[in-house]
Amino acid sequence: MTIPLPDDADVKFIYENIDKHTDWFHDCLCLIASENLVSPLARQLQVSDLTDRYAEGLPGKRYYQGNIYVDEVEKRVEELAKKLFKAPQADVRPISGTTSNISAFFALTQVGDLYASTHLNDGAHISSAAFGAGGLRGLNQITYIWDKENMNIDVDATRKLLLERRPKLCLFGRSVFLFPSPLKELSDTLQEIDCHVWYDGAHVLGLIAGGKFQDPLREGVHIMTGSTHKTLPGPQGGVILGNPKNEEQWKDIRKRVFPGTHSSHHLMTMAAKGVAFAEHIKFGADYADQIIRNARALAQALHERGFNVLGERLGFTRSHAMVLDVRPQGGGATCALDLETANIITNKNLIPDDPGTSMRPAGLRLGAQELTRIGMKGSHMSEVAELFKRVLIDKEDPLKVREDVKALKSSFQTIHYCFAPGTEAYKKWRIC
Ligand SMILES: *Cc1c(COP(=O)(O)O)cnc(C)c1O
Repeated sequence: MTIPLPDDADVKFIYENIDKHTDWFHDCLCLIASENLVSPLARQLQVSDLTDRYAEGLPGKRYYQGNIYVDEVEKRVEELAKKLFKAPQADVRPISGTTSNISAFFALTQVGDLYASTHLNDGAHISSAAFGAGGLRGLNQITYIWDKENMNIDVDATRKLLLERRPKLCLFGRSVFLFPSPLKELSDTLQEIDCHVWYDGAHVLGLIAGGKFQDPLREGVHIMTGSTHKTLPGPQGGVILGNPKNEEQWKDIRKRVFPGTHSSHHLMTMAAKGVAFAEHIKFGADYADQIIRNARALAQALHERGFNVLGERLGFTRSHAMVLDVRPQGGGATCALDLETANIITNKNLIPDDPGTSMRPAGLRLGAQELTRIGMKGSHMSEVAELFKRVLIDKEDPLKVREDVKALKSSFQTIHYCFAPGTEAYKKWRIC
């Protein structure tokens, strides 16, 4: 049942545009590396009564009444997070990856401390940059030495840098995350400088939980933050996992989540995370495996068609993500726009030593997790690569290619790797 629209121009405008968006995405191939499709069971919880409620604090120690059942749910969701990540500690309250990161920065550092992280051009997220959350905390930053050939941290040079500068905090993890971070290789050094070790797994949580990428909590990391909606296909939110150095460290994290950086922690999303965790416990290993196979197949197929896919030496990627230097095809901004006209959704991205700017970078970033979610396999990746070639290399009219994109997408309208498979991904979203 849907609610009839009132005779109000503003409400109509909003509803009609969301209808248009939903219809459009029904016909699109979505390759944004940070997005995914939440499962129907998790989506449904986000319009429950929890949408209207507050539960400040922790289960059993709330500031408001009315949380009898919410407490039960939150305790269970926390247990599910611990089980999924084999984590001694979990906080499921952060409302996004960024608020998880702000909480971690405030818990792990004091104003003026030195921290180490990846450079933005080498794939870091803005929340780890000095002009992002690190700057909010008033920290000083050094960045890891980068090995462009391997699209990863240069271990020897970075070891030297860390021993010399001795940062209080080392932050690993990126938004262009092709290969696992060398945590084991650096673990002696990290222990020697006795820093907090923090891993931002926003992009790769689903791969980690599926056991297919790396296992940071067993590789010397104390705190792992992340988003619950990228390769982990849950609702838009955040999570913090801990294998803390000591009790104090985890207590500080808890305090910085609340009352530090959150008041309401969006209970409907917290509950939906639980469904996503339960689904990933069951389907995550298969899903993660297929994502990585598809990403490698797509990268290879694009390479064979003449694209400069970075990271060739190590097989382009070990994750869901790929990055292309598309300067010969007109640069990241132009390429992403042309692809959008053809109903292929991607994003422009900085690459190492990028001569451009964030708005006009050299690169294009792709992710295979959503195509995998709707049931695509390796053989479909060459079809997708061919569509890229027709738009960006052959310079065919993107509106013409769009028709073939729609035709391909029409056979992939089901969300996989979840309970209640077979439910359509883009069916009419309005619920009374
Ligand atoms: C996406 C991302 C974030 C931010 O997550 P949001 O949930 O969008 O706030 C943080 N860190 C990294 C590495 C990311 O890629």
